[in-house]
Amino acid sequence: EAKSGGRNQYRFFDETMRNQREEELELLADLREALRAGHILPYYQPRYSPCTRRVVAVEALARWMHPERGLILPSEFIPLSEKSGLINQIGLTILEQAVRQRCEWQRQGMDVSVSVNVSLRQLCEADFAATVQRILEADGCDPRRLELEVTETLLLEENPAVARNLEKVRLLGIRIAIDDFGTGYSNLARLNEMAVDCIKIDRSLIQGLPRNEEIVRLVIAMCNFMQVTIVAEGIETLAMAEWAHRHGCHELQGYFYSCPVEAGQMEGLLRGEPGLAQPARTRAWIGD
Ligand code: C2E
Ligand code: MG
Ligand code: MG
Ligand code: MG
Repeated sequence: EAKSGGRNQYRFFDETMRNQREEELELLADLREALRAGHILPYYQPRYSPCTRRVVAVEALARWMHPERGLILPSEFIPLSEKSGLINQIGLTILEQAVRQRCEWQRQGMDVSVSVNVSLRQLCEADFAATVQRILEADGCDPRRLELEVTETLLLEENPAVARNLEKVRLLGIRIAIDDFGTGYSNLARLNEMAVDCIKIDRSLIQGLPRNEEIVRLVIAMCNFMQVTIVAEGIETLAMAEWAHRHGCHELQGYFYSCPVEAGQMEGLLRGEPGLAQPARTRAWIGD
């Protein structure tokens, strides 16, 4: 009895595994189709400078507009895309669309920079830098208005292609940001050696304020020593915005200002500057 029960249990486990694999394959097929159909597109979230009181940059964040299911967030498709390698094509289409959009906004007199998330897998491709250059040139986009956001895991990567790609894109004038700083296991010596332009302090650190104030102050001091632009992620309240501003963060990003929105809505927000915040929040808009 026990034996057959064990066998049954095993078979059950096996089937669950198979179902999971099947689900993944289905999701991957859907994703490939979505890419072909142009259903993977960027939403935009502002990065606000409390000193100049302007939106200095917008971050492009991938969204899957599913014909039946509606809007699907990255957490549902980025992990599998990373695993399967499809992240290369997803990253590329987001980069292309964001660069085109930035040029369109510039033609309309809105000179905002754009930041795009880049997977370590993309940086491992030998032709990554050349591809980025081709995309910029296709739209006549100023490389200095593009920033690539990469996570801390980059600092542990041994693949020489990564260092070469980073050097090439920086030579073009593109900026490099370390995303989600403070959540991984950073090699601080390497971070200091690496030519980084910007550090984005992860929202888990920002949202732990004021409890972990000392830690965030140390991170900010380190960033100042490195002379990089400091971005505070996950700003959800006026208190967080004020703290980050007071302690020298150069740019603030989070739901307090705006959640990620589609291009048309972002355009409206950019036009409406400095009243960029929703009416309910206008009074609390830092700097006002
Ligand atoms: P990320 O690059 O760190 O982007 C910030 C994430 O935090 C976004 O989630 C954004 O919507 C969310 N966020 C912004 N402000 C707040 C806030 O005040 N509170 C809270 N709770 N969340 C906030 P999203 O759009 O779901 O993206 C999640 C992650 O997926 C991104 O984190 C990034 O790592 C990845 N991702 C998104 N698009 C791409 C892409 O095109 N390529 C790659 N490789 N990764 C992407
Ligand atoms: Mg990011
Ligand atoms: Mg981040
Ligand atoms: Mg994050």
